[in-house]
Order: sequence, then C-alpha cells, then structure tokens
Amino acid sequence: MNNLSLIKCKSCGTFNRNLDHCSNCGELINPTLIRKLSIEKRKKKIKDQLKEEQVTTENSFLYKLQNHRFWLVRVFAAVLHSVWVIIMAIGSFLAWLAAMISA
Ligand SMILES: [Zn+2]
Repeated sequence: MNNLSLIKCKSCGTFNRNLDHCSNCGELINPTLIRKLSIEKRKKKIKDQLKEEQVTTENSFLYKLQNHRFWLVRVFAAVLHSVWVIIMAIGSFLAWLAAMISA
C-alpha cells in the first residue's frame, strides 16, 4: 500500500485517498493533473495573446501603409517607422536617465 496518497482538498479541507477530485466538493486535487491543467491554461493564454497582437499589428495604420500598393506610400511608411523607432529609443533613454538621476 505504498501508492496510497492522502491529499487534502484546498477548497474544503477534506482528505481524499487516491482520488483526482475531492469526494466532498468535486475540486481537482491531483497535483499532476493540476500542474498539467495550469500549464495548458498558460499555453493557451500566450497563444491568444500572440494572436491578438498579430491582429492588432495587421490592423495598424503603419502596417497598412507598409503594404500599400503605391511605392511612395511604402517609402513614407518606412521613414515614419524609422522616425518612430528613433523617438522610442530617445524616449526610453530619457526614462533610463531620469531613473538614474533620481536613484
Ligand atoms: Zn473539497
């Protein structure tokens, strides 16, 4: 009887023997299953997030400009994009500088 494990239910405190679900409230108590479930949940969350970002990118003004049929608009988008990157770089540098000064 080495495989017998007593698991306490986190939600109601009932002790269960070799059960995946609590005999009292039905809560999942198998640690392996709980871990598996939470990993799958996290994976799904990340996947959803990536999908959402993809949609946001494709719907963005800049993305549309960069894939425009006129080359002039695409050049304009490229310039706009580099300016935006530079502004972000300066902005983050200033934020870092402010943090360094105040520290
Ligand atoms: Zn329970």
